[in-house]
Amino acid sequence: MSGGSATKAEQPTMEHHANLIAGKRCPALDGRTIDVVCPSDGQIFATIARSGIEDVDAAVRATRLAFDIGPWPRTSATDRGRVLARMSDLILRYREDLARLEAKDVGKIYASTNSDLTVLARYFEFYAGAADKIGGDVIPLPTGLTAFTLREPLGVVAGILPWNSPTQMFGRVVSPALAMGNTVVLKPAEDACLTVLRLAELAIEAGLPEGALNVVTGYGHEAGAALSAHPAIDFISFTGSPEVGALVQQAAAKNHVGVTLELGGKSPHIVFDDADFAAALPVITNSIIVNSGQTCVAGSRLLVHANVIDEVSQLFGAHFRKLSAGPHDIDCDLGPLINAKQHRRVLSMVDQAVNEGVPLIAQGKIANGSSEQGYFVRPTLLGPVPRENAIAKKEVFGPVLSLLPFVNEADAIALANDTSYGLAAAVWTKDVGRAMRTARQLRSGQVYINGYGAGGGVELPFGGFKKSGHGREKGLEALYEFSATKTVVLNHTQ
Ligand code: NAP
Ligand code: MG
Repeated sequence: MSGGSATKAEQPTMEHHANLIAGKRCPALDGRTIDVVCPSDGQIFATIARSGIEDVDAAVRATRLAFDIGPWPRTSATDRGRVLARMSDLILRYREDLARLEAKDVGKIYASTNSDLTVLARYFEFYAGAADKIGGDVIPLPTGLTAFTLREPLGVVAGILPWNSPTQMFGRVVSPALAMGNTVVLKPAEDACLTVLRLAELAIEAGLPEGALNVVTGYGHEAGAALSAHPAIDFISFTGSPEVGALVQQAAAKNHVGVTLELGGKSPHIVFDDADFAAALPVITNSIIVNSGQTCVAGSRLLVHANVIDEVSQLFGAHFRKLSAGPHDIDCDLGPLINAKQHRRVLSMVDQAVNEGVPLIAQGKIANGSSEQGYFVRPTLLGPVPRENAIAKKEVFGPVLSLLPFVNEADAIALANDTSYGLAAAVWTKDVGRAMRTARQLRSGQVYINGYGAGGGVELPFGGFKKSGHGREKGLEALYEFSATKTVVLNHTQ
């Protein structure tokens, strides 16, 4: 997206990354474009299509046609799996180019985009293997009747993707949806389109029929709204903000189509006084600085037993002071935020908390030589944060960790559950009984004990309670989410 401070660099070869519809690169029908900005220096280096209603309609029609008469839904599950397996191989073959493109486009450090690609390849590998393992049931009925169930694709799946992890999001939506025989149309966030477009082309190289996967770029309120309201789609997978999630769900309701909503979180780490603090430190820190805190599962609340709060505060404070944010192409702990708007938003949330009297325990650095036009935020540790302060409740989507004390196990659980979100949580303790009691009482889609995450978590069902959304993605559950049961009853009395 063209941020406020962006300037057109002297770029003789400004590349245009057009929509991908029915296997062809298509600029917007009216020729409009959106500038693509590198978050590390605020410079424009490419353009994408600013699609309107007609472009979205063309993409949906292509996806519809590919479902209604194309070969993909009629391809055997085993052969669909083979195409996904080839896609996994291609992702690994082109990983360096993809990782560099992604780093420049969204500002993530290269190490991070590179590991995202490992996860992306794993998505396609996992669903390649799973595609022909989903069977149905045989249901007992009176003699002469035999009933069984089949899993059918939903049809045209629309994926509206966020900017924070476009390659992982591509894997999360596209690989299970295709595995079940759906066709897919994607609207990536306008700040994160380049790798998504390239990956959709690679899927065709892997053997996916043209039209079975289409990508249409543009602004959310234009292309995104047109896609979610389109009468020819059958299902929407949305990841992003709760506000836009509500709009998408309203649009889906008008057409009576299902949705999964993944809307972020305010995920807690609960650190009991017997925890291994040294083991927890790098894991907890990584959970809030990876992708500069712009992850739905960012571990943004550090809940610590009051007995050990000074010790933990000093340990984390010393660590945070050593962290540095810098451009995507140097060896830093974290890159810039995605755009000028998010940069302003995160800085103003921190300012507001500090102005309201929340103590600033520690901040990291911005690396020497970083461009003043880059959207950098110093990793920030605040605390003790009053429980009712906005920064303790609202999703920041930046590298900002709030430290809050608790007095006992019941208080820790109540505090952990005291936000409108419920996506992920961690419990740190050596007491297995306490860990299990706590895990069971957390209103959270995922709970980790003495850790946080499991690689990319491709195999693990994932989704929210409360305002973190509904529906489950990842793991085998995604295959059920992207398919529907058909019941067949055979009468063999004659
Ligand atoms: P957002 O507006 O919800 O964007 C998510 C996706 O929805 C993007 O593809 C966006 O397109 C699209 N969109 C926007 N308006 C739409 C509409 N009216 N109809 C259909 N689609 C629409 O999120 P954001 O503004 O980029 O970020 C704001 C906040 O959302 C963040 O600070 C963070 O708290 C949260 N967020 C959470 C996640 C997550 O992983 N759960 C991811 C991203 C953001 P455009 O981007 O092209 O407008
Ligand atoms: Mg960009």
